[in-house]
Amino acid sequence: MGEFDLIARYFTRPARRAALGVGDDCALLTPAPGMQLAVSSDMLVEGRHFLADVPPRHLGHKALAVNLSDLAACGARPLAFTLALALPGVDEAWLQEFAAGLLQLADAHGCELIGGDTTQGPLNICITVFGEVPHGDALRRSGARAGDEVWVSGAPGQARLALGALRGEWALPDTVLATLRPRLEQPTPRVPLGLALRGIATSALDVSDGLLGDLAHILDASRVGAAVNADIATDLIAASAGGIGSGAVFDVESLPLGTAQRRHCALAGGDDYELVFTAPAARRAAVLDAGARSSTRVTRIGRIEARPGLHLTDAHMHPVAGTFASFNHFV
Ligand code: ADP
Ligand code: MG
Repeated sequence: MGEFDLIARYFTRPARRAALGVGDDCALLTPAPGMQLAVSSDMLVEGRHFLADVPPRHLGHKALAVNLSDLAACGARPLAFTLALALPGVDEAWLQEFAAGLLQLADAHGCELIGGDTTQGPLNICITVFGEVPHGDALRRSGARAGDEVWVSGAPGQARLALGALRGEWALPDTVLATLRPRLEQPTPRVPLGLALRGIATSALDVSDGLLGDLAHILDASRVGAAVNADIATDLIAASAGGIGSGAVFDVESLPLGTAQRRHCALAGGDDYELVFTAPAARRAAVLDAGARSSTRVTRIGRIEARPGLHLTDAHMHPVAGTFASFNHFV
């Protein structure tokens, strides 16, 4: 099968909202009046972003999920995406599964595949997503103000917990690994929450490299500091990522990890694709309502302060020492 048959068979679908989809030199999108286009790209490289033996269906899901997560962090509604793919060869069983995982998530978000590029080479997947957001309403990293509260969605640390088990850093009970593996391999982009937070959150970003390291980007962009309760954030590691009140998904006492390791997973583990955001204290009820409307757990983990830096405390308000630097390529 050649390049063009491959594109036709696996990646061509009738254009819906797009004025022109796969098959011409460019795709055409018509932005609605009053809307801004939100654009983001993310690349996935074998050995760096995924293990060679990950099921292709999960890989297709994750490649799009990490991109949709960026739209979520901006409060943008997904519209369309392009797919640039380097493949070592044509493996139809692999392509079938990859496309199924990719397009299933795309359909769930009404996000259509409108073009891309296909070449032979070491496996590499690069997606660019396009979303729309009313002019001026996009959530940005730079809007946090002293007195705002810091919130996080879902259950950060679970992806890192699963990764550690797959890498042999620790053992997890089979039932726990079965529960957490999808959190690593098929993350849920928090698009509904991002939309619900428009007009409420003062800043937001999605956590790909680690909770505290990514929060630091908000602090830098907003020129503020923060006090974060490490214990509240760490306790989320066993929580259900769904709505408030949906309880724990496993017993944290069943983990062979001590407090320090759990803290590390929750505060510095990457691949969560949760949203970290800030909102004025007076909008607390509105934030909880946004979580409820989007069926997403939201937890208040700290407060923005005028003094610079990130100050960690435990549940008793004692300072917590330790570095929780996040993942950084080339370092
Ligand atoms: P060009 O030579 O003009 O760059 P290509 O021959 O690379 O175009 O691609 C032909 C058409 O197929 C284009 O519309 C392109 O956007 C689309 N396309 C190529 N690869 C993919 C892919 N992996 N997924 C979706 N569309 C693709
Ligand atoms: Mg061309």
